[in-house]
Amino acid sequence: MNVRSLDAAKKRPIAMVTGGAGFLGSHVCDRLIAEGAHVVCVDNLMSGRRANIANLRALPQFSFIEADVSMPLPQIDVDEIWNLACPASPPCYQRDPVHTLLTNVLGMKNCLDLALNAGARVFQASTSEVYGDPEVHPQVESYRGQVNSTGPRACYDEGKRAAETLCYDYQRSHGVDVRVARIFNTYGPRMDPADGRVVSNFIVQALHGAPLELYGGGTQTRSFCYVDDLIEGFFRLMRAPQAASGPVNLGNPGEFTMRELAECVIDMTGSPSSIVTRPLPVDDPKQRRPDIGMAAALYDWQPAIPLKEGLACTIAYFTNELWLAPFAEEMAA
Ligand code: NAD
Ligand code: UDP
Repeated sequence: MNVRSLDAAKKRPIAMVTGGAGFLGSHVCDRLIAEGAHVVCVDNLMSGRRANIANLRALPQFSFIEADVSMPLPQIDVDEIWNLACPASPPCYQRDPVHTLLTNVLGMKNCLDLALNAGARVFQASTSEVYGDPEVHPQVESYRGQVNSTGPRACYDEGKRAAETLCYDYQRSHGVDVRVARIFNTYGPRMDPADGRVVSNFIVQALHGAPLELYGGGTQTRSFCYVDDLIEGFFRLMRAPQAASGPVNLGNPGEFTMRELAECVIDMTGSPSSIVTRPLPVDDPKQRRPDIGMAAALYDWQPAIPLKEGLACTIAYFTNELWLAPFAEEMAA
């Protein structure tokens, strides 16, 4: 596939987005198209959805390649690579743990090899999971984390840690320009209702009037970032003239217990739902909150959207996904 010659006349930069049909990747594709890039979206659709990129499919400056990043990538002369391919929800990434590990490690290596050949800059979607069940709170980038290397989350956590290692080995050995974001729990429109993460689960359960399933006692905490804030952080990190010396935390430091989140969702949806408890998954981190001092200092970035405001937009999105979109499809058929 020769995307370069396709766009040579127009001189658009070419960006490859792996995982571009997923929740975050599709927002990255939108922003790149708005900036005037040609976007090559590579996705195997294992947790992504065609609907997330339906608005882009007809555009001549958008190409979709259904492929697995753990296999060799199409050798396109790209200017930048955004590597987001990997399922992010624990039930999803634990379904085929070996494939999750290979997606992270081989997918990263394939992106870095392509970047080396093409002279491209690489963005890596790393994660707060590299801190495991953290003993340092809030988590600063210099904290090396507490990950159980043999537990059920390890395929994801250790895969992302190894991917970070590859990034900095390619930087030191070959001078590849790598930008690594450690992303903390992010939510918003285009999450899959069946994805299995807490925000989507609670909202979908509340909208159905079903009990909200709280794992453990609900005292564990997370810090939730609205997608628009995160994407702005991605672009500041990727567009900065100089790479940071290492990974940079991106997230919203507002910290909530899962019980607080459940109560907030019930309240905001006006749902009659109750809260029921279920066993806490193995190795579920007890607390998580980003120290975002580095992103603030380097990129003048901080999130602007508080939880309730982001939840209101997300509830509106899920209401449409669950009730209005299927009805509209039925009417059109
Ligand atoms: P998502 O599951 O919605 O998107 C992942 C996308 O990658 C999907 O479209 C999926 O089909 C694709 N994919 C998975 N394995 C692939 C493979 N082997 N080859 C090609 N495509 C593949 O998840 P998301 O929330 O959009 O997360 C995107 C990235 O950000 C992931 O790398 C994830 O680890 C990272 N991240 C997300 C969060 C968050 O809170 N959303 C937090 C930390 C890190
Ligand atoms: N959780 C929950 N109910 C759910 C899904 C998740 O109580 O339906 C809890 C989960 O045990 C964890 C927190 O919510 O403590 C965040 O879970 P999620 O899977 O969204 O992200 P991660 O654990 O990867 O941060």
